[in-house]
Amino acid sequence: MELIPQAPEGFRSGFIGLVGRPNVGKSTLLNALLGEKIAITSAVAQTTRHAIKGVVTRPTSQLIFVDTPGIHKPRHRLGESLVATARAAMGQVDLLLFVVDGAGAAGAGDKLIATRLVPTGLPVALILNKADLAQGHDHTESYQALWPEPVPVFKVSALRNLGLDRLLTDLEALLPEGPYYFTSDNFTDQTERGICTELIREQILSLTTEEIPHAVAVLIEKMEELPQITRIQAVIYVERDSQKGIIIGKGGQMLKTISTEARLAMEELLQKKVYLEIFVKVKTHWRQNTQFLKELGYF
Ligand code: GDP
Ligand code: MG
Repeated sequence: MELIPQAPEGFRSGFIGLVGRPNVGKSTLLNALLGEKIAITSAVAQTTRHAIKGVVTRPTSQLIFVDTPGIHKPRHRLGESLVATARAAMGQVDLLLFVVDGAGAAGAGDKLIATRLVPTGLPVALILNKADLAQGHDHTESYQALWPEPVPVFKVSALRNLGLDRLLTDLEALLPEGPYYFTSDNFTDQTERGICTELIREQILSLTTEEIPHAVAVLIEKMEELPQITRIQAVIYVERDSQKGIIIGKGGQMLKTISTEARLAMEELLQKKVYLEIFVKVKTHWRQNTQFLKELGYF
């Protein structure tokens, strides 16, 4: 393992919290800034369940981005853990990126988040994402108005990789002078196992609807590195028999699609062949089960 280098004179570093409504593109932005997929993305709200750190190391700076679950009113133990994670991550940052959907004007959800962020007194930059969908409309004013004083504004497209170089350069200037927190070959605090778990969940989010995405937990029980191949054994937990039926699908077709797509994403991540085996099990009320939530790495 590489040792953490001594920071040169004038080196800047810090933790940057990504906050904003669900679906505005926070996780997509994190992946794009890193050039690596560490956070899964989807059109389903509350996709991100852990605070995920992504590290960008440049010659003159180190930027540590923290992608958090969105803040919402918790309805179950899992929800409580998500909100606690978001709150805790927010108390530890040097700068906030308030990420919004720049294709539309500010809404009630944005306003609520701004109301909570302003009193923290943390420096903030406004990221108008989805610039590719803005069609020449400029909604900067409606978001800027949520802050008592002018804040730096960036228009980007995380999906199309627009404006991200400039964003990194300008963010660097907003950070305090500081040390290296990570070695330069370290781009995330997530383990390969953790990311692989999420890659399975991502497929479920993209292939199923309604209550299924929220009723699903994934656990990798075994991950074995062989010279030519990585063997992975995973379990998809659902809350009811009917949900198990949906995940497996007619003639096992749904599970087959989930496995194939997840395996391809894992092979891309690990740069290696993957043999993936997935089982589906029912665990009633797992979202209320603190012991099980601990096993999954929440709390
Ligand atoms: P999060 O909930 O804020 O983390 O949002 P995600 O990163 O999961 O993205 C939500 C959806 O918005 C996904 O379908 C993304 O592909 C999409 N998305 C993210 N960034 C952009 C963008 O710059 N342009 C467009 N058109 N779509 C985007
Ligand atoms: Mg997300």
